[in-house]
Amino acid sequence: MIQSVLVANRGEIAVRIMRTAREMGVRTVAVYSDADRAAPHVAAADEAYHLGGSAASESYLRGDALIRIALSSGAQAVHPGYGFLAERSDFAAAVEAAGLVFVGPRSETIAAMGDKTEARRRMASAGVPIVPGTKQSLASAEEARAAADSIGYPVVLKAAAGGGGKGMRVVARGEDVASSFEAAGREAANAFGDGSVYVERYLERPRHVEVQLLGDQHGNVIHLGERECSIQRRHQKLVEEAPSPVLTPEERAEMGTAAVRAAQAVDYVGAGTVEFLYDGGQFYFLEMNTRLQVEHPVTEHVTGLDLVEWQFRVASGEAIPWKQDEITLEGHSIECRITSESPFDGFLPSTGTVRELSVPGGPGVRWDGGVARGTEVGLFYDPLLGKLITWGPDRATAAARMGRALGELELGGIRTSIPLLRRIMAEDDFLRGNLSIRYLEEHPEILVAPDPETHGDVIALVAAVLEDRARKTGTPPRHGGRGRDLSNWQRGLLP
Ligand code: ADP
Repeated sequence: MIQSVLVANRGEIAVRIMRTAREMGVRTVAVYSDADRAAPHVAAADEAYHLGGSAASESYLRGDALIRIALSSGAQAVHPGYGFLAERSDFAAAVEAAGLVFVGPRSETIAAMGDKTEARRRMASAGVPIVPGTKQSLASAEEARAAADSIGYPVVLKAAAGGGGKGMRVVARGEDVASSFEAAGREAANAFGDGSVYVERYLERPRHVEVQLLGDQHGNVIHLGERECSIQRRHQKLVEEAPSPVLTPEERAEMGTAAVRAAQAVDYVGAGTVEFLYDGGQFYFLEMNTRLQVEHPVTEHVTGLDLVEWQFRVASGEAIPWKQDEITLEGHSIECRITSESPFDGFLPSTGTVRELSVPGGPGVRWDGGVARGTEVGLFYDPLLGKLITWGPDRATAAARMGRALGELELGGIRTSIPLLRRIMAEDDFLRGNLSIRYLEEHPEILVAPDPETHGDVIALVAAVLEDRARKTGTPPRHGGRGRDLSNWQRGLLP
């Protein structure tokens, strides 16, 4: 078994990985940028090393520096987390070449799945249904137009190297194909260094359903059920749950089998996810993520497994001890992403110091956080501050617990997605499980800012508490640069 690991990441995922490592007696090595000197992931590790400047390009994206630190600190393995270098096959290869264990799939697998057209070709030949569209990148705007015409509108132009919703353009009419083709290619070239674009049908109201996989070095691959991640904003997930409220046991088995086939087609080792769009009883392969996902905790709750533990075990050569039919799902789990964005201001990024942090407890509640009181939240990294996860014997209980826990979560000093998530947890279609990737567009009322007039009394009360605290502690309350605007102060009391 691996004895020590360098966690090549930051924030909540670095903390989460180190928690399991500690339970397993694995020594943890953290790395940090200038901005992260006092970050919780540094405190969570046994040892920590400075990587470089605050920009990701000067720190968490410096593969050579990460490998140097891993070697000099005596770490045996590198866990990439998600984002940053997690899906860079050249990094995985360099880690292996340095004689270290990469906690993830082989570099060839990452390379094959990182190119969406290559992944589509492989999936199609493994008999996994793919969204109708091209399996090759398009050579020109004319070729894009011809392909889109034959697929039928709307279509989506996608970067082959894309990720995180970047390099994607939905096109409703033939005359718009050329300009969107150029725009998607430019965006992809800037973001990923590869401007190749392909086209597929844009499904109008699908659900996003993905299957969690686990493979070992002995050729075993099993799936751990699915997650539904339909509640998204601009193709980025906000709320995830397991299981999906709509899948029948037969569909679950069918989708799971397809995902396992997909993984076997690339000799998959480690934890990975096959994403599908699900529409009217049909499902289509979207992409494979060759890493741990942000939303992995909901799978942990319904399976009772620790996915990071199993990442370490299979990376150490252990075989998966279960057959597929020994995996059972129990109850229901929901995750809400708590981000430093202002949902009623067009998701404007919010920055500042975390002045107050009080996390919920009680039955079936888990907080995976990456910030502490005093943490400076800037614009260098993605806005995920932490994740609130609940479990219940059924979906209604998990949702009620989430509503309750969001009300208890106090995160003062910066604006967050909490008020939006609270509204979703109380919304009828959500509660009925009536979801699609258009959920937010179909519920515009959720994004309307609360009327400050109607909450005047609450605001006055909070103001009084703040003033009182400021007097006692000598620290002035932070009002977000808008005078008396207390919408920064997010408590259970405010909607
Ligand atoms: P990325 O790698 O950028 O995350 P994906 O291909 O995984 O991109 O797609 C992200 C999201 O975009 C999906 O969850 C879905 O909401 C939307 N999407 C992608 N492809 C389609 C499609 N063909 N039809 C409808 N929605 C799509």
